Amino acid sequence: MEKQESDHDGLHAMRHSLAHVLAQAVTKLRPGTKVALGPPIDYGCYYDFLFAEPLSEEDLPTIEKEMRKIIHQGQTFRVDTLSSDEAVAFWEARKEPFKVEMIQDLAKQGVHEVTHVVNLGPKGDETFVDLCRGGHVESTKAIPVDGFKIMSLAGAYWRGDEKREQLTRIYVAAFPSEKELQDYLTMLEEAKRRDHRKLGKELDLFMFSEDVGPGLPLWTPRGTVIADAIENLARETEAAAGYLRVRTPHIAKGRLYEKTGHLQHYKQSMFPPMKLAGEEGEYYLKPMNCPHHHQIFASQQRSYRDLPLRYAEYGHCYRYEDSGALFGLMRVRSLSMNDAHMYVTEEQFEEEFIGVLKMYLYYFELFDIKKYVMRLSLHDPKELGKKYVDNAALWLKTEEMVRSAMKHAKIAYTEVPNEAAFYGPKIDVEVWSAIGREFTLATNQVDFDVPAKLGLKYIDRDGSEKVPICIHRAPLSTHERLVGFLIEQFAGLFPLWLAPVQAAILPVADVHETAARAVEAELKTLGIRTSYLDSTDTLGKRIREGERLKIPYLLVIGDREVESKSLAVRNVSTKKQVTVSIEEFMEKTVADIRARKLMPSIG
Ligand SMILES: [Zn+2]
Ligand SMILES: [Zn+2]
Repeated sequence: MEKQESDHDGLHAMRHSLAHVLAQAVTKLRPGTKVALGPPIDYGCYYDFLFAEPLSEEDLPTIEKEMRKIIHQGQTFRVDTLSSDEAVAFWEARKEPFKVEMIQDLAKQGVHEVTHVVNLGPKGDETFVDLCRGGHVESTKAIPVDGFKIMSLAGAYWRGDEKREQLTRIYVAAFPSEKELQDYLTMLEEAKRRDHRKLGKELDLFMFSEDVGPGLPLWTPRGTVIADAIENLARETEAAAGYLRVRTPHIAKGRLYEKTGHLQHYKQSMFPPMKLAGEEGEYYLKPMNCPHHHQIFASQQRSYRDLPLRYAEYGHCYRYEDSGALFGLMRVRSLSMNDAHMYVTEEQFEEEFIGVLKMYLYYFELFDIKKYVMRLSLHDPKELGKKYVDNAALWLKTEEMVRSAMKHAKIAYTEVPNEAAFYGPKIDVEVWSAIGREFTLATNQVDFDVPAKLGLKYIDRDGSEKVPICIHRAPLSTHERLVGFLIEQFAGLFPLWLAPVQAAILPVADVHETAARAVEAELKTLGIRTSYLDSTDTLGKRIREGERLKIPYLLVIGDREVESKSLAVRNVSTKKQVTVSIEEFMEKTVADIRARKLMPSIG
């Protein structure tokens, strides 16, 4: 753990120091360029500049070369402390308005002392000065000269304000070694190839319509097959774990969200209200399913014998995301959530919570997720009454309950302050796709607040009324996010059980059509999803088409196959072709689908 921390600090210092090197190189090559600022980011760093003459892609190799020169010099960093007035005078003399503004803003906030970092050349000469709080490598020689690359240029407004100057942002990827940089670049390439927006279009899985609106995905028939297969998985797993299914409307009155606290804590993520003629109050599209589920819980008197009570629904929610933040299926305004709410007593909490975590691990295996991290998101005492419900004692107690459950389940986790839900702590699960990209997928939250606000209660063993704890969980995330992830994870070539078309039938010539149609009919009877690629095109062309559509099996039927009642089975992921009897193909394929196997067993 400690080692990780120091590696992380070292990497941060390297990337931060590299940002100064970038600024130094740019100002040397382009005198008169105004510097803004440049922080480290999760794959390197960037720096914002105001150029007198626009910069182009062709200029980047020269900048990289200059950066390498600076790195080779082994410049060191000296940190000087100045009063605000001295610092303002310094940057005014250099005609650097952004630095002056930053120092003046700090002074307005009561900070009257700032630090400068001065780069020192090999002879102790001052080569560059920046406004900076420190945290550098000892010498620029510690920056791996082959571990960085300028990635791109982008426009960025000063202070993110579109009324202010438009600056040029230079992004740099930076890693401890050339190999790690290359791995990162390969991952980006692969991510481009597997981009869920690109593959979603090519494989005809989902679409957006300008007339429907941004962030509102429409599932095509092929994409709906995938969503349905996932939903069936959830129904099966949840039924076995004792969940009961419910169905609830997409809208509710504002008074419900007033009671739950959503209008107080969550309003900015909700669509604006609707006013209905002749009705009092307003209606909202639901941003979460819990308030509806809570109504069902409250509809009857509950006893401790009824608990735990688990309501599950693939509930459709609406969230008012900023239009600029929308991104394919990953950030949308309409989402179908693998939701459930479990009402439990304090004694039942741990077992139920662990049960949910075990469900995650089962799903990870099915989807071939090998790397994941569970993050325990906690409250921040400073935000009580604002971002979080104001009950310090209950926050501490439930956070401790979650820690203890994680410990007993022997599941590793990291703690993250100030990221909890407004009603309680939560476990967010981050997973890495097959190409090493990170996604936040699932969530498991504890709610000690809303049930009391809605008057949810049960009669305990001793006859007293108690408020249940609610566990919110969504191990399969939303259809939108999970399918987006799975497209990248499998590069569009889904396991049989998820594939929109599981097998394509390819008669070699017209004369094989009767036999091929008979096979098609048999497979359909077994529920195997097939398509028929008739012989108007050459066999080679049809095989390429089947591969392009990423259909797991291509079944070729010619003279030999008709005669021996067999199939030439081409496995698109292994690219192997084997001949098996029709019977064997059917048996193995049905078994693979039922077992939700990752790889098809034939070929
Ligand atoms: Zn610095
Ligand atoms: Zn919920």
